[in-house]
Amino acid sequence: MSLIVQKFGGTSVADSEKIKAAARKAVRAHQNGHQVVMVVSAMGKNTDLLVSLAQEVCERPQAREMDMLLSTGEQVSVALMAMAIHSLGYKAVSLTGGQIGIKTDSTHTKARIESITTDRMQRLLSEGNIVIAAGFQGIDNDLNITTLGRGGSDTTAVALAAVLQADACEIYTDVDGVFTTDPRVLPEARKTKQVSYDEMLELASLGAGVMHSRSIEFAKKFDVPIHVRSSLSDTPGSLIWDKTQDSSRAVSGAAVTKDEARITVINVPDRPGVSHDLFSDIADRHVTVDMIVQNAGSKGNANISFTVPKDELETTLDSVNKSIAEFGSGAVDFCDNVSKISVVGAGMAEQTGVANSMFDSLVAAGINMEMITTSEIKISALVSRDDMLSALRAVHSRFELHVDPPGAVDLDLDHFTHKRSADAVEVVSRLQGVGMETLFIDDINLDETQSSVAIFGVPNQPGIAAKLFDRIASEGIFVDMIVQSYPIENEAVIGFTVPVTSIEKAVSVAEQVAKDLGCEKVTSRKEIAKLSVSGIGLRSHTGVAIGMFKALAEAGINIQIMNTSEVRVNVIVDRLDGKNALKCLRDTFDSSIH
Ligand code: ASP
Ligand code: MG
Repeated sequence: MSLIVQKFGGTSVADSEKIKAAARKAVRAHQNGHQVVMVVSAMGKNTDLLVSLAQEVCERPQAREMDMLLSTGEQVSVALMAMAIHSLGYKAVSLTGGQIGIKTDSTHTKARIESITTDRMQRLLSEGNIVIAAGFQGIDNDLNITTLGRGGSDTTAVALAAVLQADACEIYTDVDGVFTTDPRVLPEARKTKQVSYDEMLELASLGAGVMHSRSIEFAKKFDVPIHVRSSLSDTPGSLIWDKTQDSSRAVSGAAVTKDEARITVINVPDRPGVSHDLFSDIADRHVTVDMIVQNAGSKGNANISFTVPKDELETTLDSVNKSIAEFGSGAVDFCDNVSKISVVGAGMAEQTGVANSMFDSLVAAGINMEMITTSEIKISALVSRDDMLSALRAVHSRFELHVDPPGAVDLDLDHFTHKRSADAVEVVSRLQGVGMETLFIDDINLDETQSSVAIFGVPNQPGIAAKLFDRIASEGIFVDMIVQSYPIENEAVIGFTVPVTSIEKAVSVAEQVAKDLGCEKVTSRKEIAKLSVSGIGLRSHTGVAIGMFKALAEAGINIQIMNTSEVRVNVIVDRLDGKNALKCLRDTFDSSIH
């Protein structure tokens, strides 16, 4: 007999009619011979209401009591859902997170799932019940109620699907599926048929996805395909799984962050350990940092720029000022009127010419890029917030995201089942012991086949990166990492890496472009080493990048370039330091390798 997990979000259970409609969907699946586990969110905006109630009685409610309060929203929904199913003449039992046995750590309001017992659910299912599980909540070792963080019901659903080895996991929501970009922002956005776990991880963390990012970490780790679909219709939605919709296409989705702030720390000492000190103090204040770019400043000093969510700007500035005082030199510059535009696609890892197409499309729209960072499957540029919409429209149309890729196939999602690999099943049982959301590193790798190029004194005007990477691409050179620093005194630095075998050609192209466009000079380093730590949850576990900084700083190894994505952190160091750096990282992360 097959087992299906169906999750209904807040808007899909917002009133009694919607609850009844959701109940009918579950009953229909049950009639079709499936065992059904429903995961339900709080009705409508109930969680928001509870949050504001808390704020009315107390300025800083304790996290434990917030969890006690917020978990009641889901408890209301599951009871009503069970009743609705009873009135249709079917058996159903509602369960809270604690009753299911969802054990979490004690980090109230953002607890992580450690283990889930399946006995009770299995027994109820085999007795013919529809099991209705409260989303978003669990219980810690001392029986305190915990919650998983806003939007956490998705994570409950995928986690249950993983431990129950469900045949399908359906997420019912108020949109039709996963879109190429947020359709409320850009009406020409298109519903994708399939999107890969990695792409969805990036999109979810950019705030573009309909899903809680930790649910996608679960899905990838335990190989649980997710069918995101509308609760208002029976139309199939989008499938998130280990394949992308069409790997011949380099870009699958685009996103903008609306509320970003940029911080530049100018002229701090250029020595190992500075980044570590700076970013570990910020991490201690629970701020998530993105788009880190470091480059040479004047007189042997360094400039470091990065972005943070706009509402964390104050906290971050406090931290930065404290660090600068400790370094004994440096100044800070910031701007809270910026947006990050990103394109994401599993296909870009194998193609040349993706970055320059993106840059080109921005230039054509007259938009200046203040910073650039890339990862294997994502390219991000920082632009002025005023340019946000036109930037999104420009890249969306350049990559033709509004039309289906050629040869895109419609999957029969209503009859979709997926045999999980023995590996994935084994990972579930292994991690149940140590914590299902524990940091999961699968590889630490040293790549000695790359070289880097840097162009200094790049004038702060649109079009230079586009021209440079256009010419590089037309030479057929594959560019791996790209960074462009925030311009100081109107001059930026662009750095990038290419295969060792292309370095001479890349340098001569760069020199030509530098000359044509009035840049100051080009330097290159043939002997570099790229170290990568890859796994799952590398950004939600902020300690990974910090741990890398720390390990390398302690060994006296200088980081030349770095980038981070959801599934990988890369750093570039001198080739001579490569083997030693590899050993340091292995020592640091050994216990997280699974
Ligand atoms: N009710 C919780 C929230 O609004 C959890 C969820 O809906 O996923 O964040
Ligand atoms: Mg949600």
